[in-house]
Amino acid sequence: MSKKKISLLIKARYIITDPSVEPVENEAVAVDKDKIIEIGPANKLLERYEPLKILDRTNALLMPGLINAHTHVPMTLFRGLADDLPLKKWLEEYIFPAESKLTPEKVALGTELACAEMIRSGTTSFVDMYIFEDHVAEVVDKVGLRAWIGEGLFDFPTPAFPSGYEALNETKRLYDKWRDHPRITVTVTPHTPYTCDEELLKAAIKHAEDNGLILHIHVSETQWEFNEIKFKRGLTPVQYLETLGLLRDNSIFAHCVVLEEQDIELLYRHKVKVAHCPESNLKLASGIAPIKELLLKGVDIFLGTDGAASNNDLDMFGEMDVAAKLQKGISNDPTVLPAAKVLEMATSGAAKCLGRDDLGTITPGSLADIITVELDKPHLFPCHNPISLIVYSVSKSDVRDVIVGGRILMEDKKLVTINEEDLFERVSRILPKL
Ligand SMILES: [Zn+2]
Repeated sequence: MSKKKISLLIKARYIITDPSVEPVENEAVAVDKDKIIEIGPANKLLERYEPLKILDRTNALLMPGLINAHTHVPMTLFRGLADDLPLKKWLEEYIFPAESKLTPEKVALGTELACAEMIRSGTTSFVDMYIFEDHVAEVVDKVGLRAWIGEGLFDFPTPAFPSGYEALNETKRLYDKWRDHPRITVTVTPHTPYTCDEELLKAAIKHAEDNGLILHIHVSETQWEFNEIKFKRGLTPVQYLETLGLLRDNSIFAHCVVLEEQDIELLYRHKVKVAHCPESNLKLASGIAPIKELLLKGVDIFLGTDGAASNNDLDMFGEMDVAAKLQKGISNDPTVLPAAKVLEMATSGAAKCLGRDDLGTITPGSLADIITVELDKPHLFPCHNPISLIVYSVSKSDVRDVIVGGRILMEDKKLVTINEEDLFERVSRILPKL
């Protein structure tokens, strides 16, 4: 009997198929085109399949690629530009002025830099909100990552559009342009409940509902925002957004740091997805989101880095480690956010938040978004528990291979779709113009 030709077979020491189940040992993953087709002992798979390529990673751990729930990728250009400031001052005195000089070319360069960083640190999908997002999408298309992108809507002009309504028109155009792309999904992204007025928010939600799109917005990030909305509307930000119809199972609320008990109930009742960004909230001293309480209620949460200007990296391994320890620390309870739950918030649970059952696990039929992590290093030995190792011991530089939709984006630590030397040079050239 002739063997079936497949595109790729990866042998691994451990395979984390899904954080909620025991990892398998000494098996292999068969990939054909963009999908995972089978998992099993390599010799058995090789009896039936003829792979065009074999990656022997018998000293490595294989797992689903990480999903970054909330970021602004072009902001890598502003990494370290202004640190150690309160959010409002940081935004209004440093970030907004720097952003006012942005151009499509700068956005594309910042995006490519972010993509190089994300691939190197094992992120295969990210959810983005920024300006000139068409240029983010163009780079994503070229480098091979998977992304949810949305043009930021604001009451005030941005370098991209004179008004939020024109940015919403751009959202419509982006949707038509990218709707059939296998890796790019367009979302509707009003910036916050205090930078978008009621009418703009209503127009955004209408567009999201008419087209079945995800709506992605920052909500209750700081005490200042909470007080401001309460003063103007007599309601908390979450309650105010409920009156506008923004609470829905297709909405992503980034941050949710300052919440009242009733807000948690509302988020749960409307199945809103919360993008938790602990490092950014810590660095801007915005506070700590009540993740323990949200999880107890049953709210779906996934994990994001936020932009590189407030983090200052896009490292999801670091984010998982901080997320797990932070909730334990503030609740005096080491059982809160166990490693498997945190890993779920960056893989299978994140895919669920995005409404995707074909992502976030290593399962036959799923899209082949896969990473491998080297294990033969002192800080990763011994391996009593692969999931604990991933959350508490692995660093971004331990990632060895990255595959998205069956396409190898990094092989043995070498980027395939990005020339880093050339990229650094192109970014350096625009730095004086920032
Ligand atoms: Zn953000």
